[in-house]
Amino acid sequence: MSMRYLIFGAARSGLAAARLLKSKGHDIVLADEKPESALQSAIEQMAPLGVLCRFGAPAAEEWLEGMDYLLISPGVPQTHPIVLAAHKRRIEVTGELEIGFQYAERPIASISGTNGKSTTTHLTSAIMNAGGWKCRAVGNIGDPICNAVLEPPNPAQREALAVEVSSYQLETIKTFHPRAAILTNITPDHLDRHGSMEKYCNMKFRITENQTADDFMIINADDRWCAPLKDKTKAKVLLFSIEREVHPGAYLQDNTIWLDVEEKTPLLTREEIPIPGLHNVQNALAASLAGAAFGVSAPMIAKAIREFPGVEHRIEFSGNINGVDFFNDSKATNLDSMEKALLSFTRPIILIAGGRDKNSDYSALNNLIRERVKYLVAMGEAEPLIRRAWETIVPAVSASDMKDAVRKAYQLSAPGDVALLSPGCSSFDAFKDFEERGRVFKKEVQNLKKESEK
Ligand code: ADP
Repeated sequence: MSMRYLIFGAARSGLAAARLLKSKGHDIVLADEKPESALQSAIEQMAPLGVLCRFGAPAAEEWLEGMDYLLISPGVPQTHPIVLAAHKRRIEVTGELEIGFQYAERPIASISGTNGKSTTTHLTSAIMNAGGWKCRAVGNIGDPICNAVLEPPNPAQREALAVEVSSYQLETIKTFHPRAAILTNITPDHLDRHGSMEKYCNMKFRITENQTADDFMIINADDRWCAPLKDKTKAKVLLFSIEREVHPGAYLQDNTIWLDVEEKTPLLTREEIPIPGLHNVQNALAASLAGAAFGVSAPMIAKAIREFPGVEHRIEFSGNINGVDFFNDSKATNLDSMEKALLSFTRPIILIAGGRDKNSDYSALNNLIRERVKYLVAMGEAEPLIRRAWETIVPAVSASDMKDAVRKAYQLSAPGDVALLSPGCSSFDAFKDFEERGRVFKKEVQNLKKESEK
């Protein structure tokens, strides 16, 4: 039956939902608070599909007139006047994830948590593909699920989806039902929107809300905020741990990754995981369990992990110049992530840090900086703050831009060292986003490499 949807938020996921719903015969109005001039590309994409667009200050009552659903983008809080107006009129509020699920017709492995979502999603998809599934990584990683389900699945293939979901996306689910769900970890984050840790956890726990005893819920046994989910889910619980043996589940013991779901099997050694850091051992454990839940064999899980190239901008190997390894960790936009990166190397690090400060307490990392960092290259708006915090404990220089930073890091390094961009700050002082910052870093590394080979 044809329904009328007001889609509020004309960004990537809103456009994807509009395209899918339109192709299924529904009536769509796309709206956004931004002025028309800021949304030319959205209008150009929607016009040929016959989607009506409305922009500027929301006239909630008028826009909602005759609508069956309000589909909000994950950026729109539940307290937004248009959401409140929809509730008042008993118009159902939904989201792009829910709609994508309704048309998916493919089993889903879904990944949520505060950190490690993207890496675990890509790794899960790689493991499923190694196990004979045709599995695309979608969702919050930047490729909306609605794009992936425009076409029905090909019956000649075993199709599945690995879907990264944020807590904001879980706010608007109703029937979303993954066959396997992963909760990587929960740490205080986004509390500004969710209010309290309990509320934030409950939102994350919604990932399992529609699961049954035929499904799998994969939980980080080392995380005190995730652990209570064991008693709340109806799904079969699989645990993962880097601290102890867990059953049924997967764990790190004696430098070996063990899978113990049906029978205890060694998967691979820690050194064989190509993505650095203990946090990535956790991500590999979680993704292995998702693979096991989808019937992927242990040798295929191990193969996919061994061959995993990593995810762009997350401690991504970016080249070697005369024995110095360069890594791009532009995604590290806060000190927690910088800490993970510093802990991932035992070789001396030349650290390129800085960008737009987030009111961070840099002294929290003093010990780690003292232990692991050989030279500091400070840049961006936060350069004076970072130098003030750390130049008494490590030799520091300043860089005027990324080109200068890469060159200074190289000059200060010796063969065997690591030159690491892990900014610990946002990118918005000089770049469109962290992706652009990472790409500029990699380009500068390649330029320097070419010059050094002349
Ligand atoms: P997300 O998609 O949740 O932001 P990513 O996989 O993109 O996660 O990783 C982003 C950063 O989070 C990494 O650079 C690393 O610093 C940190 N991180 C990744 N995995 C974990 C984990 N399992 N536990 C804690 N921190 C992690």
